[in-house]
Amino acid sequence: MPANALTLSAADKPSKLRLLGMPAGELVEFFENIGEKPYRAKQIMRWLYQRYVTDYAEMTDLSAALRKQLAEMTTLALPPVLKHEHSDDGTRKWLLDVGANQAIETVYIPEPDRGTLCISSQAGCALDCAFCATGYQGFNRNLTSAEILGQVVLAARELAPARITNVVFMGMGEPLANYRNVLPVAHLLLDDQAFGLSRRRVTISTAGVVPQILKLASDCNVALAVSLHAPTDDLRDKLVPINKVHPIAELLDACWKYAEGQASRSITFEYVMLDGVNDSVAQARQLVKLLRNRPAKINLIPFNAFPESEFRCSSKAAIDAFWQTLRNAGLIATIRRPRGDDIAAACGQLAGRVRDRQRVRLGDRVIGASSS
Ligand code: SAH
Repeated sequence: MPANALTLSAADKPSKLRLLGMPAGELVEFFENIGEKPYRAKQIMRWLYQRYVTDYAEMTDLSAALRKQLAEMTTLALPPVLKHEHSDDGTRKWLLDVGANQAIETVYIPEPDRGTLCISSQAGCALDCAFCATGYQGFNRNLTSAEILGQVVLAARELAPARITNVVFMGMGEPLANYRNVLPVAHLLLDDQAFGLSRRRVTISTAGVVPQILKLASDCNVALAVSLHAPTDDLRDKLVPINKVHPIAELLDACWKYAEGQASRSITFEYVMLDGVNDSVAQARQLVKLLRNRPAKINLIPFNAFPESEFRCSSKAAIDAFWQTLRNAGLIATIRRPRGDDIAAACGQLAGRVRDRQRVRLGDRVIGASSS
């Protein structure tokens, strides 16, 4: 991926081996290499992902000698918490330090029947979607698997006895532009030796990195959400610039292939409601043409403003009319209720603290290169 090329090498060269987020098979190899039994991997995974313990001193079923050796060779460090906020509606947000003056955000959204954790996959984002606070910050680097899964371990520990039942990759960043580090995390979220969530409770949301959608279908077929936001290429080119690289027809084709790998499950299409931009009944009808008779659900997201944004949220009447048009045509559509907006934890408000010194964005680079 082009975004991988931008990864800062410092993040890839820890002084100690990171065991958090390491694929189960590699953890087994690690223990074999230091002359230990393979089942040590299971023991460590149980401590980390089922009891959320990250201090070797507490891992009482490992010998003192092994614990000392592990502490010397490896790290289980979680990103330090800079700030922890509670919304009036129960939503919580953590601001986490990922070094070099960069910070990312993680959000927990409690609902009567579930607890959803929304995690970040990159510090910033290169895709530059016109209405997104993260994109506005620019892109700094890919998070490591330890930093991505660390968000889940940290939140699970702080939330106990409340449980995280769902994990969505809808925080900062484009998860499929950090495929290499996101994939092991997705596997560990599903693995019964680790978090043991079902496939339908782990959702990867993408702006449309088509080759990686197809790859994910065979590597780890979790629930897929796609940020569509416009029914035509002309408009989507402006709102979601990666559309210039992978236009709607190509994107939807990949989505239907992805859905074939899932028994009776559909793709969720996110559609942010922008006043006077993408919210007319005529546009709803265009959307119907794209998605009718397909394994699709549509989630209408009222636009959440952030200080620099140039858009406004559609009126309630416009959102209702759009929704009704989709429903009348037989599509499954829901309207997302904004959560945590009083602590800027709602969709698209996650800005963290990203210093994009290079101002290099995937959209500009790829599009710039192809038009030169
Ligand atoms: N990069 C991924 C995941 C991160 S964003 C993706 O694009 O899907 C999660 C969702 O929030 C996406 O659908 C995104 O388009 C949407 N979003 C971004 N900014 C928003 C805003 N200001 N208001 C409402 N939704 C927003």
